[in-house]
Amino acid sequence: MTNLLTIGNDPKTIKGEKRGVKTAILYLAPVRLAGGQNVCPFATAGCAAACLNTAGRGAFTATQEARIRRTRLYLNNRGAFMAQLVNEIRKFVVSCERKGFQPAVRLNGTSDIVWERVKIPGLDVDVIRHFPEVQFYDYTKWSPGQRLAKGPLPRNYTLTYSLNEDPNALGRAADALRLGWNVAAVYDRLPARVRRLDFRPITAEGDDHPTIEVVDGDADDLRFLDQGQLIGLKAKGKAKKDTTGFVIRHA
Ligand code: SF4
Repeated sequence: MTNLLTIGNDPKTIKGEKRGVKTAILYLAPVRLAGGQNVCPFATAGCAAACLNTAGRGAFTATQEARIRRTRLYLNNRGAFMAQLVNEIRKFVVSCERKGFQPAVRLNGTSDIVWERVKIPGLDVDVIRHFPEVQFYDYTKWSPGQRLAKGPLPRNYTLTYSLNEDPNALGRAADALRLGWNVAAVYDRLPARVRRLDFRPITAEGDDHPTIEVVDGDADDLRFLDQGQLIGLKAKGKAKKDTTGFVIRHA
C-alpha cells in the first residue's frame, strides 16, 4: 500500500526541524493528472508549468505513479483514503511526541483541495478538526472570499494565498493580507522589500510607494508562524523560464 504522507523528505521541511517542527506532506497528482476531477480548480498556466510536482523527487516516475495512485484513491474510494489518512496522521503525532517535535501537516503539497470541507465518512468531521492539537497549513489559489464563503477555517489551519499571473490575483492578495493570511510570491531573485501595491521590486531611486518586507520563504516552510506576511520564494526549476508573469522579475 502506498503511504499517503511524506515525512522529512524535502530540504525545506527538514530546515523546520531545527525549529522543533516536523512536517508531514500529502503529495497528490495536481490538476487532472490522475484523470477525473481537477484537484487544483484555480491553477493557472504559470503555476501549472512551475508546479512543485516535478521538483526534487517528483522527477522520478515512481514518485509520479505514487501521486496518481493516492489521487485515484481520494477520488474513487473516499472512505478508504480518509481512514488511511487519519491512521497515518495519528501515527505521525505519536512519533513526534516521542521525539519531542511539534507535528505540522500540509495536505495540499501539490493540490488545492478544500480539506476543511471534506468529511471523514462516518465521523461527520473533517480531518483538520479531528486533530485539533495538530497544526495544519497550506498554500492556496482559492481567493479568501470564495474560500471563506464555504465556512470559517478551523482554528488550527493557516492558509497562504499564492500570488499568480491572473489579473485578479492582486486584489485577492490584498484581501488575504487584510485577513491576516500570508501571501506567497515567486521572484527571479529575492528582494528585501517590494511595493505593497503590486508586490513588484522597487524600481527607481526615490520610488515612494508604500513597501512591504519580504520574508524568505525558502528558509523554512513554517508558514503558520507568520501572519499577514509577504513570503518570497525564489524561482526554481522550470519556473526560472516562466514567461506568463507568474514569476515576478526585477526590471
Ligand atoms: S495550484 Fe498549486 S499544486 Fe496545483 S498546479 Fe498550481 S502550483 Fe501546482
